[in-house]
Amino acid sequence: MRTIVSKGALEVAGKDNTKGPETSPDQVFFEFAPRPPAPVAAATEPTPAVQPELPGQTIMPWSQSPSPTPAQAPVRSFALSKPAAPAAPAPSPYDAVASLEELTRLAADCRACGLRAGCRGVVFGEGNPKAAVMLIGEGPGSTEDEMGRPFVGPAGKLLDRILASVGFAREEVYIANVVKCRPPGNRVPQPEEREACRPWLEAQVRLIDPLFLVLLGASAAQALLDPKARITQIRGHWLERYGRRVLPTYHPAALLRDETKKRPVWEDFKLLRAEHDKAAAGRGQQPPVG
Ligand code: SF4
Repeated sequence: MRTIVSKGALEVAGKDNTKGPETSPDQVFFEFAPRPPAPVAAATEPTPAVQPELPGQTIMPWSQSPSPTPAQAPVRSFALSKPAAPAAPAPSPYDAVASLEELTRLAADCRACGLRAGCRGVVFGEGNPKAAVMLIGEGPGSTEDEMGRPFVGPAGKLLDRILASVGFAREEVYIANVVKCRPPGNRVPQPEEREACRPWLEAQVRLIDPLFLVLLGASAAQALLDPKARITQIRGHWLERYGRRVLPTYHPAALLRDETKKRPVWEDFKLLRAEHDKAAAGRGQQPPVG
């Protein structure tokens, strides 16, 4: 049974969104802070009929006008030049594996590419084994290699805040990488290394069976969508792979280097939140694909 998390309200950095801009957009957006708990109304006061706030309806602190809801926002089209992965996963030795636990155990002994020789161990992934949202990054870094967990370094901490800003707890999603072993010096994985690791990723997707795949950065987009994909062009576009809805966006590490990427990523995650909630409500109209 698929797990759909409940919608969390969104607000930025604890600011009163109904007031004018007190803080610059970059300052506020940088925080990716979850909404603080709402004050409890006095028992003698009538409870106002308040509609739950949708993430896309949040009034940005620097604007008096609400942002368009994700449902109203135009979904841009993007044509892939050549699929990097087939519409359905190719047959693999792991097709008969029936559980994520068994798959994780098998992957720990993988030596299918040269990356395993230069790392401490396989960082397979973690999170909700039946998550509706699966996030896929590039590969483990030094902290991830040391701890055996994905996205636990500075970029991972930022990812946690991005998720929280749209009401997702880290434990509600599943987080993995295109390659499971740390490339030496944190270099970009080579295409042949991505291909060697693809059966593991495809088996993960099959077993977790998420509704949404969020591709974090160019390596994930090039591995799953198009070897020539440019993340600057395709981020924020709803695409499709393996019969699932795919949303590419920037890798959190890129946000640490370039703060101007934070706002588009926030917009992408609000879009994800809104589509997730529509699916959870049984209204899941598929956005245009391709
Ligand atoms: S990166 Fe993937 S294919 Fe290469 S050794 Fe590690 S688990 Fe195996």
